[in-house]
Amino acid sequence: MHVGLDFDNTIVSYDAMFHRIARDEGLVPDDLPVSKLSVRDHLRRTGREDQWTAMQGVAYGPRMAEAEAFNGVHEFLAWARGTGIPVSIVSHKTRHPFIGERHDLHAAARAWIDLHLVDADGPLVAPESVHFELTKTDKLARIGAAGCDVYVDDLPEILLAPGFPAAIGRILFDPDGHHAQSGLERAASWAEVRSGVEALWRRSR
Ligand SMILES: [Mg+2]
Repeated sequence: MHVGLDFDNTIVSYDAMFHRIARDEGLVPDDLPVSKLSVRDHLRRTGREDQWTAMQGVAYGPRMAEAEAFNGVHEFLAWARGTGIPVSIVSHKTRHPFIGERHDLHAAARAWIDLHLVDADGPLVAPESVHFELTKTDKLARIGAAGCDVYVDDLPEILLAPGFPAAIGRILFDPDGHHAQSGLERAASWAEVRSGVEALWRRSR
């Protein structure tokens, strides 16, 4: 039993951080809901798509450390480690932002993992089990090559992609309930991810 996890918006929640950056830069009204999509939609609605793109370079680069893990991520990873279930992080990320300064986004993500995904017993995910791929195709290939039995992602288009390895179980992380029509097994929280993984693990023994 080997669990693969997506990174952005599955392990890492950017909602509070994007809201904070947008507020710091005076780009959104004070009463805008605290979510990344609210910030994006507001900037698009007001014709500031470029500022949204630039903000992503800052958020996933120099301010990455400010992002938070979703509730329950630590508990899940500590449970998997304690149970002897290997976990890999497999993500697709460009090396540099599309515009703005050329921050190394892979390095920022690895630094975030070093800072946030640890407890008193050490790393919650082994560094050699963290894979940032440059394209979606490479990500799908890596999910297969890493030997995952189940993979968790927040995007239906990844789990339903034609190149997604057919034998691997899929769980859609859908905390805001956006994808009820996806036909995928969904988890609204990390406690639900654990229930789904635990059920598969028990069946595999
Ligand atoms: Mg994601």
